[in-house]
Amino acid sequence: MKSIAVIGGGITGITTAYALVRRGFRVTVFERHRYAAMETSFANGGQLSASNAEVWNHWSTVLKGLKWMLRQDAPLLVNPRPSWHKISWFAEFLAAIPRYEANTIATARLAIAARTPLLAWAEEEGIEFDLRQEGILHIYRDRAGFEHAGRVSKLLGAGGLERHPVTPQEMRSIEPTLAGAYFGGYYTRSDATGDIHQFTTGLAAAAQRRGATILQGCEVDQVQSTGAQAHVTMRCDGAAQRSSFDGLVICAGTASRALAAQLGDRVNIYPVKGYSITVRLDDASSQAGAPTVSLLDDETKLVTSRLGTDRFRVAGTAEFNGFNRDIRADRIRPLVDWVEQCFPAVNTRQIVPWAGLRPMMPNLMPRVGRGRSPCVFYNTGHGHLGWTLSAITAQQIGGIVEETLDNRSSFAKVALSPT
Ligand SMILES: Cc1cc2nc3c(=O)[nH]c(=O)nc-3n(C[C@H](O)[C@H](O)[C@H](O)COP(=O)(O)OP(=O)(O)OC[C@H]3O[C@@H](n4cnc5c(N)ncnc54)[C@H](O)[C@@H]3O)c2cc1C
Repeated sequence: MKSIAVIGGGITGITTAYALVRRGFRVTVFERHRYAAMETSFANGGQLSASNAEVWNHWSTVLKGLKWMLRQDAPLLVNPRPSWHKISWFAEFLAAIPRYEANTIATARLAIAARTPLLAWAEEEGIEFDLRQEGILHIYRDRAGFEHAGRVSKLLGAGGLERHPVTPQEMRSIEPTLAGAYFGGYYTRSDATGDIHQFTTGLAAAAQRRGATILQGCEVDQVQSTGAQAHVTMRCDGAAQRSSFDGLVICAGTASRALAAQLGDRVNIYPVKGYSITVRLDDASSQAGAPTVSLLDDETKLVTSRLGTDRFRVAGTAEFNGFNRDIRADRIRPLVDWVEQCFPAVNTRQIVPWAGLRPMMPNLMPRVGRGRSPCVFYNTGHGHLGWTLSAITAQQIGGIVEETLDNRSSFAKVALSPT
């Protein structure tokens, strides 16, 4: 049985561990927090959204971003202080603009393919995660936004996604609680929502039942590879330890870039901060007044999920401000205002604010594959779609690890056999 270390116990690390343990590997996950899914996989937007597969590498995003830089409550905020990390990331972001169409189509394909394994694993392992399969409705207040969505729809269609335009009247029948005047919408019936934290902790328990070891409270300080073995140096509850494995998969979210650098690989992930609020729906009128269909407001870049009967999650905004995790009141306020405008019957007295760092690659495509060393692998950099894509990229990396290590064993056997 080959041994694999997985670094990171967020959605990508736990799905990777689960996929590997199902393929018969001896898996050890290292997670620095006491529990799984305590960083970006804690309180995200909840959308399992092939309909949000459009990558951001488009000149219209750049123009909007420049306009928004002057507004404190804008969906995008860039700290103008330069850093090599930020400059190199933006340069690569611009360089990926010619791949906008191809990458959007590829992401849509991945997101659709991810649905089957994710739902099958949840079913097989009995994981409750407030799954809701009522579709996602994109809403537009003006013609320009709606027409851009039409062009995006064609690309999503090329990736296999069925989504159709809806009139304001149809929007009201899809989600009757939504207030306000709209130009139109796009509805994707096949998309879904669910609680990423509940799913990840449930799948972590399932992986353990199947034999994986999950070491929580263990921070990995150093990773090395000889080509035949990977070495991991970590501190578990304060005590330093070193272990060796046949393979190593980096799934460390925004920390993946620094770990990759130790291994001689360049994985230019930038931490793109986002915020969410979870509104407690404690009274009957709030429960009736909050939507059950998931929404994506393209103008404000906010997404929503109804989690069970008594939680309503609203998430969004993108902030380029390094590893800063502060929850800023002036960034949370627009989310609360949005709920009050769109869902006036919802009581916003009790909200739980949260901030997380999206591990984002400049071309918005996850890094899934081998590193420079034959026993190093990556499944990381899923940006704004880590929840949506997690199950399929875990399956992909499982296949790549298996194939690589099998080839290595057969090569070693051939090399050892007498001539
Ligand atoms: C506001 C917001 C809304 C979002 N909404 C959606 C959505 O609706 N749909 C969607 O698909 N995606 C969404 N996302 C994106 C999604 O949440 C992320 O892509 C995903 O959670 C990233 O998972 P991860 O496993 O890569 O990273 P993480 O969840 O951050 O996991 C990485 C783990 O690695 C651990 N780690 C790091 N370094 C070390 C080390 N040295 N030693 C040990 N452990 C280490 C960390 O502690 C962490 O637990 C959203 C993100 C944000 C911020």
